[in-house]
Amino acid sequence: MKKLKTVLTLLIVAALLAGLFVGGLNQNRVATKQEFLFDTLCTISVYLKRDADAMENAFDAAAEIHHLTDFYSTDSDTSKINNAKANKPISVDSHTINMLMLAQEINEKSNGAFDISIAPISRLWKFKDENPTPPAAEQINVLLSYVGSDALVIDAKDKTVTKKYDNVQIDLGAIAKGYAADIAAKVLKAEDVKSGLIDFGGNIVTIGENPKTNNKKWRIGLQTPYAPTGDYSKIVEIHSGAAVTSGTYQRYFEYNGTRYHHIIDPKTGYPANRNYESVTVVADSGALCDCLATAIFVMGEDSGKKLAEEFNAQVYFLP
Ligand code: AMP
Ligand code: MG
Repeated sequence: MKKLKTVLTLLIVAALLAGLFVGGLNQNRVATKQEFLFDTLCTISVYLKRDADAMENAFDAAAEIHHLTDFYSTDSDTSKINNAKANKPISVDSHTINMLMLAQEINEKSNGAFDISIAPISRLWKFKDENPTPPAAEQINVLLSYVGSDALVIDAKDKTVTKKYDNVQIDLGAIAKGYAADIAAKVLKAEDVKSGLIDFGGNIVTIGENPKTNNKKWRIGLQTPYAPTGDYSKIVEIHSGAAVTSGTYQRYFEYNGTRYHHIIDPKTGYPANRNYESVTVVADSGALCDCLATAIFVMGEDSGKKLAEEFNAQVYFLP
């Protein structure tokens, strides 16, 4: 009897140890999938439940947001709005309505520093061209008269957008990646993924706890502007939520010794002139962080920090 008890005890201990070992192995294993969306590299990593189908579905959902917001695709919601005449309600997807509503709120709270109707100016700067040159001041001034989010009337109930003037155009580049990362996270959670990290070109959204760190927090590296990728100035630890960076180094060109970057001050039509090169915002949602990072970059440190406080967000500035 005593022998049987000893054997049973040994078996239980062995089973527990095996369980721990397998648990440990699982915790450290990660599955990763990458796709090129929103003109940038997008990565989804999942831990514990390494579900390839879930990642595929999350990317499908993100690709749908890409399609809705694509400035260059003729059948995107962005193009439908941009090509529409004034005073004609345009039906759009509910994702587009969500983005437009948040963009409108941040536009108001940032006193116009964040403005999706920046499109005529952001396109004029031609950051995607191979050898862009700064546009003429007269051109900027003409197109500046078309900028102002009060020219967009959003009806959330009917899911329509109406422009007050023909020339109003939108550019959702400052919100779409963060919003898409939130949607991808939602899909993964619905598929029972308990732990994961979504990184859409520096727009990070986390799911659950990090099984790879002792304190279960996610470690987010803040890229040193203009240093090689992966060279971090600071590591921010977050339990859950999102972290998004807006940086001059993400898209810019140089002309006659001057650097021109893609974050435009809607008051001037020129790249926002600041004494830092990046702004990172940490908060609950990717879409909110995306809007706030762009807005705060334009606003500057003092008023930017106040806006972050309003949303319970942390903000980091890097030179
Ligand atoms: P982000 O990288 O999120 O800061 O977004 C920058 C992109 O959003 C630019 O490439 C433009 O397409 C657009 N954009 C530039 N300036 C602004 C602004 N002040 N408000 C909203 N969108 C902007
Ligand atoms: Mg942004």
